[in-house]
Amino acid sequence: MFNIDLHCHSNVSDGMLSPAEVVARAAANGVHALALTDHDDVAGIAAAQEAADAAGLTLIPGVEISVTWGGQTVHIVGLRIDPAHPGLAAGLAEIRRGRIERARRMSDDLARSAGIVGAYEGAYDYAVNKQMVGRTHFARWLVDRGHAPDIRSVFRRYLTRGNPGYVEHEWTSLENAVGWIRASGGMAVIAHPGRYTFNAREQHLLLDAFRALGGEGIEVITGSHHPSEYGKWADLARAFGLKASRGADFHAPGEGVDIGRLPALPHYCQPVWQGWPELAPHFSPSLA
Ligand code: AMP
Ligand code: MN
Ligand code: MN
Ligand code: MN
Repeated sequence: MFNIDLHCHSNVSDGMLSPAEVVARAAANGVHALALTDHDDVAGIAAAQEAADAAGLTLIPGVEISVTWGGQTVHIVGLRIDPAHPGLAAGLAEIRRGRIERARRMSDDLARSAGIVGAYEGAYDYAVNKQMVGRTHFARWLVDRGHAPDIRSVFRRYLTRGNPGYVEHEWTSLENAVGWIRASGGMAVIAHPGRYTFNAREQHLLLDAFRALGGEGIEVITGSHHPSEYGKWADLARAFGLKASRGADFHAPGEGVDIGRLPALPHYCQPVWQGWPELAPHFSPSLA
């Protein structure tokens, strides 16, 4: 089977491996084409591209943009973006600027409502890219300090709405995120739609609004979806004229799903990667 994974993270955002290590792991797992989609930053793509060239793997330049829509955080993946596009770069830089101030508020809230002090310094220490401190860095610090046994439990007790360490934050708009992705030549995809707590009406509004802005795809197979949810999102993709994507959302060995280790898309889905010329060598090796 052609193995394509269109969602993963390096230590440029909240992954644990360097971009080159992520690519090496993908190659070892039998992945033919990989999108590196770090949160709100494209600084890892050059190194990933170099590693992909050496490993004979096709790298798709990507990003995962944090958006506020309908009162919730929604993640929009950009695929085949141009990381050098000035409009995209400026938009991402603006999002990153908000993260430091947010991290201080998260830390203050952990101290005030759970008596946990020093979280900002702790999380900051775990972030390789100091502009990209996020909840996963807080989560790893909380685990290492013994406040929870693993990352999953952290997010059940801390850092999520209603729990210590959660603060409201206004990310960018859906319109901006889709606009920057498209302006840089990329394709916008709604990440892990099953993670949001929208009701059916709100889900439909999101898909409609996204489509109207020029969004083209939705993740159907992701590490965030239970297999019982795949069919629902495949059906919604078809009903709303969206293409389907597949990505593990890999962050670190032992955390969640590994790169490329996911089921195939349901056969009736139209894959986001259909017709991408850079994939042609994988289908006709004699022309490579
Ligand atoms: P942030 O962008 O700083 O809000 O951090 C969001 C990241 O936290 C996501 O990309 C995931 O890596 C992680 N995360 C959020 N919720 C969970 C969860 N329930 N379990 C595991 N990781 C989570
Ligand atoms: Mn993440
Ligand atoms: Mn996400
Ligand atoms: Mn992700």
